[in-house]
Amino acid sequence: MTPADAPASRLGAPADTAAPRLAPASRLHARASANYATLRAQALDLLRSAAEQHAGHVVLASSLGVEDMVLTDMIRRHGLDIAVATLDTGALHAETLELLQRAQRHYDMSIEVWRPPQQAVVEFVGRHGSDAMYRSVELRHACCALRKLEPLGRMLDARSAWITGLRREQSAQRGGLQARQQGSDGRVKFSPLVDWSLGDVWQYVADFAVPYNTLHDRFYPSIGCAPCTRAVTLGEDQRAGRWWWERDGEKECGLHVERNPAAGAASRDPLASETGASA
Ligand code: SF4
Repeated sequence: MTPADAPASRLGAPADTAAPRLAPASRLHARASANYATLRAQALDLLRSAAEQHAGHVVLASSLGVEDMVLTDMIRRHGLDIAVATLDTGALHAETLELLQRAQRHYDMSIEVWRPPQQAVVEFVGRHGSDAMYRSVELRHACCALRKLEPLGRMLDARSAWITGLRREQSAQRGGLQARQQGSDGRVKFSPLVDWSLGDVWQYVADFAVPYNTLHDRFYPSIGCAPCTRAVTLGEDQRAGRWWWERDGEKECGLHVERNPAAGAASRDPLASETGASA
């Protein structure tokens, strides 16, 4: 064995230098905008308004992504009367499920978990297979409708308002997002981080030691279901790892596509208030 072949530990270097080292996402991305303090104050004001105007009927629909963890921290830190809920699609990463438990311990709180109807999922997989989402956009949308939209509808049923961690910067489709929008069903959607940059989000995480998904440390800026999420590489946009095999069309699951109550389903009219998703 030549020195070049020897394990790093035999050459006197620590054994783990053989593996690439990644900086924590909070160290890599934290970069406050000049108006960061103002953005934080505005976000908190909006959350307070939502809690007061919709007392007992407002929920943070959390994807457990980093933006939603920032909002969870604000809600708990300031004692706001806003429920926190998430969707367990049955296809989440182990890291996401671990964060769900860790966040509840960290904040000493219960996070509502909404799941799709088990029998319907079994039937869908039996009919179309577990890899249906890769075969056509229609099947992917059908899977999202079953695993996400259906339980989201139940989550929101008794609520007059919901909170999301959407930011304009996340994608071109989210460029028209407003901090407060009323849907055609009358429900109000608040997006307190609408003007935050990714750097602001991570600055907040660093400032307040907010728990986050360890996948973010492995270049997953946006995290959804395991089969439909991959890490991004340098130069790719923040949503590039979601449904990466779909080259055209909107990279959304329908959670934040304006619903058409008459049709009973998400409308994909591009003129509707397509505001993107934290999911
Ligand atoms: S993100 Fe993928 S696995 Fe999750 S509901 Fe949509 S298609 Fe199904």
